[in-house]
Amino acid sequence: MFDPDRFIHARAKAVDASGIRRVFDLAANLKDPVNFSIGQPDFDVPQAVKDAAIAAIQKGMNRYTQTQGIKELQTRITGLITAEFPNWQPASSKLRTPNSELATSFASLVTSGVSGGLVLALMTCVGPGDEVLIPDPGFVMYKHLVRLVGATPVLVDTYPDFQLTAARLAKHVTPRTKMILFNSPGNPTGIVATDAVCREVVKLADEHNILLLSDEIYDEFCYEKTPRADGSMKCPSPATYSDRILLLRGFSKTYGMTGWRLGYAAGPAAIIEQMTKLQQYTFVCAPSMVQVAGAVALDLDMSTYVEAYRRKRDTLVNALRPHYQITTPGGAFYAFPKVPDHLKLTGQQFIERAISRNLLAIPGNVFSDRDTHFRLSYACDDQMLARGIEILIDLAKS
Ligand code: PMP
Repeated sequence: MFDPDRFIHARAKAVDASGIRRVFDLAANLKDPVNFSIGQPDFDVPQAVKDAAIAAIQKGMNRYTQTQGIKELQTRITGLITAEFPNWQPASSKLRTPNSELATSFASLVTSGVSGGLVLALMTCVGPGDEVLIPDPGFVMYKHLVRLVGATPVLVDTYPDFQLTAARLAKHVTPRTKMILFNSPGNPTGIVATDAVCREVVKLADEHNILLLSDEIYDEFCYEKTPRADGSMKCPSPATYSDRILLLRGFSKTYGMTGWRLGYAAGPAAIIEQMTKLQQYTFVCAPSMVQVAGAVALDLDMSTYVEAYRRKRDTLVNALRPHYQITTPGGAFYAFPKVPDHLKLTGQQFIERAISRNLLAIPGNVFSDRDTHFRLSYACDDQMLARGIEILIDLAKS
């Protein structure tokens, strides 16, 4: 008898997606819900980017590309990184010192989304016996991907302000700690790491010989920029303080192209070289026409969209503050308020109640060992935002 279960490895079975599935099951019958559950922007791909992808398809850009990515996109990425982080030297740079090339110079790899970069980074760098420090609360994929490669995720509690500080990390460092997953602006909290936190975390990683992976997929959605050496205002990043980190950035959120699957990894050339080799034998390459369009996207100014989200954040936080404990998110398009204590409800129970009022959001236990908070995504139009705020205030009072 054919028993499919026999062929499903424990590795797959260990991934528990029940929390989020439960929410979506409950939500399936909602009509025109206030949807605060969505992890992507509410704007569409800019026309110039669509046009570039269509033209690329018409011109025959439909074949495999070089695994590391097409040259025009690679060149743009190298340019962006060296402009933003003057301490980073490209592997191709004439400035490099011959013997230290692979140790200190950087290379980049175009990936199938930041998810693709995460998979390759973890496959390349960690395995059984290794521990990976991840923020709690944190992006749902992290702990599952760490387990998929046989390593052990170690959750670092960041409540109540959600900063993944060196002091919080230090408590969990052991001789087996191999990597720190750092994510700012963060999902699900929207919290932006301060410059001081970035600097201290780099120092901690250096001292203990731990690889820092900085997932900066929300870098453009940053409302707490700080000045760089050249005076430009940017989101704080550990990459300002070290070129020995793995930097992952994406196109999904910035350009509303989550379905197009594009991102990139930059970091020490020796590590990127191994990730590139693994990409060759897994993803092969990021979608060809999307790479062409990605190079066009990098020239666009998305600041009006970002400003609109900043206003939505202000509207949401100001309205909820009298009713909820809420840490002001400095980026992304999420907020992570606490379920009011007097309700005596878990995050799950609170969201069930919210769903019964036609509002959809994600309970905290999907991202965390705790079930005391919930994630709101304010990437929606102003009308829906206003409707949602009204329901949330009502729920807090009930
Ligand atoms: N990292 C974080 C923190 C995210 O929130 C997401 C998407 N939700 C990703 C990575 C993956 O994004 P993508 O693969 O679309 O680039």
